[in-house]
Amino acid sequence: NHAFFLCVHIWAALCKYFHIHSEVDMWGSVRTSPSIGLTDEQKDFQKVAFDFAANEMAPHMAEWDLKEIFPVEAMRKAAQLGFGGIYVNPDVGGSGLSRLDTSIIFEALSTGCVSTTAYISIHNMCAWMIDTFGNNEQREKFCPDLCAMQKFASYCLTEPGSGSDAASLLTSATLQGDHYILNGSKAFISGGGDTDVYVVMCRTGGKGPKGISCLVVEKGTPGLSFGKKEKKVGWNSQPTRAVIFEDCAVPVINRLGAEGEGFSIAMKGLNGGRINIASCSLGAAHASVLLARDHMCVRKQFGETLSNSQFLQFKLAEMATKLVASRLLVRQAAVALQEGRPEAVSLCSMAKLFVTDECFSICNQALQIHGGYGYLKDYAVQQYVRDIRVHQILEGTNEVMRMIIARSLLTES
Ligand SMILES: Cc1cc2nc3c(=O)[nH]c(=O)nc-3n(C[C@H](O)[C@H](O)[C@H](O)COP(=O)(O)OP(=O)(O)OC[C@H]3O[C@@H](n4cnc5c(N)ncnc54)[C@H](O)[C@@H]3O)c2cc1C
Repeated sequence: NHAFFLCVHIWAALCKYFHIHSEVDMWGSVRTSPSIGLTDEQKDFQKVAFDFAANEMAPHMAEWDLKEIFPVEAMRKAAQLGFGGIYVNPDVGGSGLSRLDTSIIFEALSTGCVSTTAYISIHNMCAWMIDTFGNNEQREKFCPDLCAMQKFASYCLTEPGSGSDAASLLTSATLQGDHYILNGSKAFISGGGDTDVYVVMCRTGGKGPKGISCLVVEKGTPGLSFGKKEKKVGWNSQPTRAVIFEDCAVPVINRLGAEGEGFSIAMKGLNGGRINIASCSLGAAHASVLLARDHMCVRKQFGETLSNSQFLQFKLAEMATKLVASRLLVRQAAVALQEGRPEAVSLCSMAKLFVTDECFSICNQALQIHGGYGYLKDYAVQQYVRDIRVHQILEGTNEVMRMIIARSLLTES
């Protein structure tokens, strides 16, 4: 009997912990459904992404976080579904989907694990940069392995002395024959040390953005090394390390675009990156709204369930409303970027600013609704909070987003 009740107890705990599974299955029926307004084709791959999130990611997300596991095999499975190069051209192994499609997929995947999905989004951004700005030899050399996630990529812009002021970067690339000799270091590089392909912004010319070029540096190149693995609040299923160059010789044929185009390439990558990272915040927020709703329906205080409290009802209603508004903004920005509209850069920045702030607030309020339980690692909501906090900081801080939006407003004719 004791063993039986122990089993039931464990089963109940597991069901409660992985409650997100059933939530994901129910998404089509909830008022805040991310399927509203999508085409049948979009709904189809959205379902594939949700199923993958529920079956291949959610059951492991706590363990990946706790043990800091970079889930290479799970990501390779995701790549088999076409998620390794979602907006990369099909002739080099990509899925050839749009920015909106990409957002839909990252939103769904991140319900299963924000941290892993966010890394996949950075990998996709790098693959897109090589596909878009590389010549055919470069595209054919790097993109197929990246799209299959047989190889993994990192984006290297930030340095210890240049974060928000990225154009002041100092890593130097000096031309010597048919190689550039790289010296300097990059800070906070997602995937750093565990990845194979480094898309590096470095200085080949004078001060400022026009002196920056973009080189692809392969792991194993002599002179390339890595710092210690950083200890982080969240994003623990992906390593973050400094990337160090000491007389690191990189073939000139690994340069993307012309000399001096590197900063522009980096920023173009980030426009999409900002939509992607905002989409990861959306997935976390939606999962958190549903977790909060369900907790309100079962938790009793003062003789009734929390769902009877009008204060909490209003709170939940506001969370759901902000979630849906956030999704609309992300999707509008994604379409603008896809169509190359002049307001796209501004809209991507608005989406990143608004959505990562609002979704963090939604997840944080969902944690509050869980009371003390929300603070326990047995409950998924705290991991969503920890994982999306950094979305307000990276790919351009939300203060930098305000700068971009204001500059665009003040200079438009
Ligand atoms: C987990 C993690 C992963 C990352 N992954 C990558 C990666 O893969 N590749 C990569 O290149 N980088 C990566 N980054 C770096 C990230 O992009 C930078 O941390 C970010 O751009 C901010 O730079 P900083 O940390 O140097 O902050 P700072 O630039 O020093 O800024 C500090 C604070 O001051 C504010 N601030 C700065 N200037 C102004 C101003 N003029 N007006 C108002 N406010 C201002 C900023 O918004 C911020 O709040 C990662 C960071 C983290 C934490």
